[in-house]
Amino acid sequence: MKKKKFKVVVKQEWCKSCEICVQICPKKVFVMDHFYSSVRDSNDCIGCLQCEKLCPDFAITVTPIETNDNE
Ligand code: SF4
Ligand code: SF4
Repeated sequence: MKKKKFKVVVKQEWCKSCEICVQICPKKVFVMDHFYSSVRDSNDCIGCLQCEKLCPDFAITVTPIETNDNE
């Protein structure tokens, strides 16, 4: 079955370290890396887009990645 994949990116210069993304992501994709949120593993992302919506600084982008049926 085709599994959708997503690329998750945090623009750290926009991040103000509120940790909302770390707390709300159902797949624990984010971890705090010193003062900024950092992506632990994009492969765990299910594309719910909660992080994009709830980040107060618009620092997160989630982009679908094209995958082959065989993957
Ligand atoms: S929600 Fe946005 S501003 Fe807050 S820690 Fe995450 S990336 Fe940074
Ligand atoms: S889209 Fe959902 S699963 Fe993916 S990183 Fe954001 S909150 Fe986590």
